[in-house]
Amino acid sequence: MRSMHLDPFELHRPTSLDATVRLAGDLAGKFDYLAGGTDLLPNYKMHINLRPHLIALDAVPELRGRSLDRLGAMERLADLERDGALRAAYPALADAVSEVATPLVRASGTVGGNLLVETRCFFFNQSYFWRASLGFCLKADGDRCHVVPQKERCYATFSGDLAPALLALDAEVEIAGPTGRRRVPLDALYDPAGDGIRRTKLVPGEIVVAVHLPASARGLRGRYKKLRVRPSYDFPELGVAVAGRWEDGGRVERLRLAVGGAESYPRRFDDLTAELEGGPLTDARVRELGEQVAQRVRPVHNTFLLPDYRRRMVSVYVRRALAEAREGRAG
Ligand SMILES: Cc1cc2nc3c(=O)[nH]c(=O)nc-3n(C[C@H](O)[C@H](O)[C@H](O)COP(=O)(O)OP(=O)(O)OC[C@H]3O[C@@H](n4cnc5c(N)ncnc54)[C@H](O)[C@@H]3O)c2cc1C
Ligand code: SF4
Repeated sequence: MRSMHLDPFELHRPTSLDATVRLAGDLAGKFDYLAGGTDLLPNYKMHINLRPHLIALDAVPELRGRSLDRLGAMERLADLERDGALRAAYPALADAVSEVATPLVRASGTVGGNLLVETRCFFFNQSYFWRASLGFCLKADGDRCHVVPQKERCYATFSGDLAPALLALDAEVEIAGPTGRRRVPLDALYDPAGDGIRRTKLVPGEIVVAVHLPASARGLRGRYKKLRVRPSYDFPELGVAVAGRWEDGGRVERLRLAVGGAESYPRRFDDLTAELEGGPLTDARVRELGEQVAQRVRPVHNTFLLPDYRRRMVSVYVRRALAEAREGRAG
């Protein structure tokens, strides 16, 4: 029987981005990047999708640095949380950071690791023994899904808190890889059309270097509201982020809304929020928006709370997020 101990692996610790990308090319298909390790190492202890090599990112200077424009991928969540200027400029992001896990996890967890956190499912986040006794699933060691019975797609839930907030702020991600560097909207990092197992559009070996925030996102009103069972600790069962600019009781100039924790990728609802731009943010329009978003979101039964409840809570959380953002001061 396999215990909860880590199997042996070889640890590499490159000291530049170029060396990291070169190493990733040499070890293609046989490694994982290791940031804070708060997600990866528990999964390794449960013997989920092990690789023989880990490339630690903590000594790569290009992945560090924090300003209102740029967050290095290796910035720790606890440092973001303590950064008063960042909190004031981006209230939705501040909410999301402070709601990730516990202070201890935030002391090690990083921005990059949070954006790329493994999707979750209660048939997957289990010990090897538990998974073996039920029969493994598509996402690790098996060939079927226990949640939506079929053999093609995994429906594990995207459970990172930062992504919805950063989506609402129009963030971009800087990526480095074998073919050079590129910058894409955060939206384009995730792959809604994929098999749910390979959850991003990163090509093998690519690494997230930083998140960039546009000047237009600074000073937006915003909120991130998170539904979870134990408020001190748990992953999101739903996360709703809003960010916008509007006059009190007046015209909405700009509005973004993103949802995470409900499906296998986080997503924005630009077509729906665009309909509110140019008009007043009345209670009736907010209620209608909440209901429209809830109709589109399709949670499945692979987390603690029932999917129907999570879906109904979408409209509640949209209303709460917008109500609080409306009352809150601009960032
Ligand atoms: C008890 C507990 C509770 C938690 N609750 C929450 C929660 O409420 N909300 C939440 O969002 N998360 C939660 N987490 C998950 C995790 O702690 C956080 O998401 C954290 O931010 C992950 O960052 P990390 O640096 O530790 O990532 P790691 O574990 O080091 O990495 C996560 C994944 O990202 C990859 N990766 C990391 N950095 C890069 C990079 N720069 N480029 C390419 N790939 C990269 C790794 O290879 C790995 O696949 C929880 C974890 C625990 C243990
Ligand atoms: S959704 Fe299905 S394939 Fe994905 S982790 Fe859960 S049981 Fe496995």
